[in-house]
Amino acid sequence: AMAEAAMAAPVPPDEDGDECLPQYRHLLSPDLLAGQVAFITGGGSGIGFRIAEIFMRHGCRTVIASRNLQRVSEASKKLVAATGQQCLPLSIDVRQPQTIAAAVDLALKEFQRIDILINGAAGNFLCPASALSFNAFKTVIDIDTIGTFNTSKVLFEKYFRDHGGVIVNITATLSYRGQALQVHAGAAKAAIDAMTRHLAVEWGPNNIRVNSLAPGPITGTEGFRRLGGKFAEKSDLFSVIPLQRAGNKTEIAHSTLYLASPLSSYVTGTTLVVDGGSWLTSPNSFSALLGISSSSA
Ligand code: NAP
Repeated sequence: AMAEAAMAAPVPPDEDGDECLPQYRHLLSPDLLAGQVAFITGGGSGIGFRIAEIFMRHGCRTVIASRNLQRVSEASKKLVAATGQQCLPLSIDVRQPQTIAAAVDLALKEFQRIDILINGAAGNFLCPASALSFNAFKTVIDIDTIGTFNTSKVLFEKYFRDHGGVIVNITATLSYRGQALQVHAGAAKAAIDAMTRHLAVEWGPNNIRVNSLAPGPITGTEGFRRLGGKFAEKSDLFSVIPLQRAGNKTEIAHSTLYLASPLSSYVTGTTLVVDGGSWLTSPNSFSALLGISSSSA
């Protein structure tokens, strides 16, 4: 019975670090995104890196952009080697609109088009509100929420207004039940989900689709390492998740591919939760989480 279940819902393989998949079996047409260009913030690591890889394996050229130019440059070399597609690494700070504008100009000069924007850049850590500095709360809002607005607006003005486009904002389920130690990220991501609906409404007439994708706990990411992956494995927290496990980066990339591609051509203004049902059932224990935050600090 287990083997049959595994055949019905196979889990696509993933690699733990920021490395490309040694093998890849296409579930969708390899030319699903042929001719397109995706601009991916946070594309040099974690979930953003795997999104870049999976998009490139479906014919997309990519721009991967974050603060650390060395990180995105090294990532770009790996992505090009694994997929044979073009990838332009650029340095931006999503808190500074002029750095985004300069990067989008360079990307348009290189590729003459941008079809897809993935807002993946974010900062997070576990901290109780009582210990969170005023500045720490503001920094997370600045990177996640304001950074998503800045990047979306620059892309709108420089390309999407006249050509249409697709925006996918990577958010989280933290605010759905008020996750402990996460008031900063939960508030920041909830505001992005609101922005998704506002921009979907305002920019729909320009043929721009805007959606959020909210991952659950995803292995092989900085987020997972920092937010208590070891703790979760040890205390068997995964058994309370309906699908009985954490997700992986390939699974998030596949769901992002759906939202970015013409497969979802009539989907806008919504949030796709990709968490194995986790937020519905996982415990939200303030004291247990305080234990992880002090041991991982
Ligand atoms: P990650 O590897 O730390 O990705 C965050 C990326 O954002 C990094 O590449 C970082 O690159 C970039 N970044 C940070 N500040 C920036 C800034 N000011 N300007 C431009 N880029 C900036 O973490 P991840 O876990 O893969 O997370 C990716 C996304 O998924 C995030 O939006 C996160 O909130 C979301 N998410 C993750 C999980 C999970 O389990 N991992 C769960 C729910 C949601 P630089 O340092 O080079 O700038």
